[in-house]
Amino acid sequence: MTTVDEARSIALARATDAFERTRLSRVLDPVPVVRALGRVLAENVHATVRHPRQPTSVMDGYALNARATLASSRGAVDDVFVFRDVASEASRAGDAGARAVTFTDGMCSYITTGGVLPLGCDAVAPQEICSRTSDGVVIPRDAIVEGKWVRAAGSDVEGNGELLVSIGTRVRAVEVALLKYAKDEVSTYAAPRVRILSTGDELTQSACDNAALGSIVDTNGPMLEALCVEHHAEVLERCVVPDDETATTAAFMEALNDERCDIFITSGGASVGDRDFVAGVIERLGGVIHFRRLAMKPGKPTVFATIDRGNAQSLLVFALPGNPVSAAVTFTLLVAPCLTVLSGSTSSPSLRRLHCVLAETLSLDPERPEYHRAVLDWSEGESSLPVARSTGKQISSRLLSMRGADVLLELPRGPGSVAKGAVASALIVSDLRQADVRMEKIAAPRRGVAVTQQKASKTSSTFVTVLQADGVVKDLKRAIGLEEEVRRRCEGDAEALLTSLSMYSDGDTHVAEMDRRPTSLMRAVEATAKRMRFGAEAANITHRAFARVGIIGNPSDGYGGKCIAAAVSNWYATVTLVPTPDSSSVSFVLGPHDSHEFPSFDELSSNIALHGVDGGVRLLKALCENVKRYCVDTQQSIDFSVGFRMHYSTSIPKQLGLSGSSAIIIAAMRCLLQHYDVTISIDAQASLALRVEHDVGIAAGPMDRVVQLYNGVVFMDFSRSKSCDDGSGLDVHGQYTRLNATLLPPLYLVWADDNASHSGKIHSNLKARWENRKISADSEFDEAMNSLMTLTEEVLALFETGSTITPDELIDRINSNFQARRRLFGDAALGAKNLKMIQLCHENGCGAKFAGSGGACLVVSPDENAVEALRRACAAQGFRLERLVIAD
Ligand code: AMP
Ligand code: MG
Repeated sequence: MTTVDEARSIALARATDAFERTRLSRVLDPVPVVRALGRVLAENVHATVRHPRQPTSVMDGYALNARATLASSRGAVDDVFVFRDVASEASRAGDAGARAVTFTDGMCSYITTGGVLPLGCDAVAPQEICSRTSDGVVIPRDAIVEGKWVRAAGSDVEGNGELLVSIGTRVRAVEVALLKYAKDEVSTYAAPRVRILSTGDELTQSACDNAALGSIVDTNGPMLEALCVEHHAEVLERCVVPDDETATTAAFMEALNDERCDIFITSGGASVGDRDFVAGVIERLGGVIHFRRLAMKPGKPTVFATIDRGNAQSLLVFALPGNPVSAAVTFTLLVAPCLTVLSGSTSSPSLRRLHCVLAETLSLDPERPEYHRAVLDWSEGESSLPVARSTGKQISSRLLSMRGADVLLELPRGPGSVAKGAVASALIVSDLRQADVRMEKIAAPRRGVAVTQQKASKTSSTFVTVLQADGVVKDLKRAIGLEEEVRRRCEGDAEALLTSLSMYSDGDTHVAEMDRRPTSLMRAVEATAKRMRFGAEAANITHRAFARVGIIGNPSDGYGGKCIAAAVSNWYATVTLVPTPDSSSVSFVLGPHDSHEFPSFDELSSNIALHGVDGGVRLLKALCENVKRYCVDTQQSIDFSVGFRMHYSTSIPKQLGLSGSSAIIIAAMRCLLQHYDVTISIDAQASLALRVEHDVGIAAGPMDRVVQLYNGVVFMDFSRSKSCDDGSGLDVHGQYTRLNATLLPPLYLVWADDNASHSGKIHSNLKARWENRKISADSEFDEAMNSLMTLTEEVLALFETGSTITPDELIDRINSNFQARRRLFGDAALGAKNLKMIQLCHENGCGAKFAGSGGACLVVSPDENAVEALRRACAAQGFRLERLVIAD
């Protein structure tokens, strides 16, 4: 099963690519600014002039020259000044006036709010505190302050090309106003366009239909249409088909042939029943299914696919489950973010998360993380967090569980429950602006008091786990084999533990509770629960690991130094582990390129050239051996009695330096650790994965694996390594820090499908030089390595400012990175095709360097036009270009 985070990353990568390919054709003719409301801006809008153009008054009152008046003290009587009113210079808002007089001390003239200050004036005294007498205008001395009640020129908008509203902003009322500072008409993007299909023999259109027994109203279709509209999409068509393969295929064909359609959303028929045709139809139409079962409740049978239209563009397909709540939740978590991206919006496509306190104890689903619908209430609770109350029965057909829901509580997978009063994280799904928040207003910030200490949440010493089993309470320990497990795993007095273990049952749910919480007992209970689950249905375990792209720094991190790299969800390896509860056997299914049979010698050679001699299974074998060795070294006693079958696939293009082999290892490692319940720190996992690659003879440094384990953008400092403190003998090669990926400008990858470059070859000479350097100085090597390190530190500093990094800040550095590397390797080792790709990027004004050891280039473009030009140039040369999506 695919996790929701992975699923979202994968879908977003496809949506981003679809948008980028069609960006220009999505730009609509300019519309008057007010009509842009709700649309996404397709251009940056800069200020042409400053606002206000001249210094103006903030008050109705008298303009005067405060500096000169105070300096001369003429006209001062006690604590007031008497001014001579130069009535001819009076200035009212909108009146530019031909200014004739330059004001000096003792002169004033009437001015209204927004009026331009007469020459020489530097202050305004409000009318309310001034009095007119026969001598002139009397103003208190302390009201005469230079700069007072004056709005300086450019204080609202500086002018000078200041960015008012950036491309990708959804226009709201404030933007309408800001845009008007510069323009009357603006360019916007067309809304993303969708078609919606409800499938099911049982569906009727209306509750008024004279419905047959067994029929239900198609609620999904109208709901999905409304959700699309709420998310600013245009619905081209909505229809219903029965559970019929021909009718379903016809509906898909219509969506495919309708080139305006970005996303086809179906509901129902997406599972594995004999009337579920959707996935089969997608496959028969040549579609690629990226995921089909999600680790989430509700929403497990959700399919995401892309179907090639034959014109380098694809139709995105979301086949959502039929149950209405599942359809609504999967739409919200997966489809809505893609609509955001396809609208051209650059705001985060993820839902906002908040923390809340649970109003009641909620049991956890032992199989899948749950998105539990809840209403928030700020009027109760002791902390400043809102209290979350469940909307009641959460079955996936009960739409009432969505009614009024403010959040989806993100409950983790069980076993067990989360207690009343616990703090949970939740995704906001309602418009909280209208929430009845009855929190006390804070009248004035209290000085000297820091933020009120949040009460430490009560930690319970009670250990509760939920075991799903049949059986009566008093026999439970024996019935579920817990006693046996406790004796096997618990150090110390197992007898005492068993006696103090109290159990009770609540219908189908059995709860084991005890006062202490020894780890060994928890493990025993979990192992039993797991075994019971295996007994019921051996759940497959699936994990993914994403491709890795080096952003800046040392290319081959085995040599000290620093670098920044990212995991990207455009490509990934997937590994599935199928437990074999009745057997301890371990087997590996050959991957798509692991063939042992070839039609000819030539085909054998080209297969080896691309995929290596042994393919991917050797990685899985070496991994298993290493995990076992790790457990022995760290004295973790693992129960290997339940075996498995493992298979893998990968979409990471081979031999382009995108870390394809380590992605397979890491995805498989995640499966193994989950299956055998082994704990390994993330840093040790990176080192273990590296050991696996060394064992099978792949030359690699630690960087790739670190990024693939951490995901997102990671800064790695390899100048400091240390031993793991877990007894494994592994080294942690550096210090790793995750950076804020949203600060990066758009990144692209350019590659050629037939540009295989064996990473090992490219590293090899470097390794020798690194070793030799200890014996004889190699200043060229040191100079290049130092320059890579400095570049990394510079980019790290950009991240640390917390502001968005501009393309220009990266382009030169990325090019310098490439040059340093070119000096290290020499052109011959880099390969003519690689150099051609880099050159093409440079010719189009973009920054480019290798994304890894060679074969693919990371590209940063100064603007949209340069990307489009590069896209065309790449197409002409047979290179490919895709916008990268960071897997966060
Ligand atoms: P399916 O995913 O097709 O197996 O459907 C699962 C459940 O969702 C069944 O109870 C269906 O009747 C129900 N369902 C399917 N499509 C719709 C729909 N368009 N509106 C409301 N309920 C539906
Ligand atoms: Mg159905």
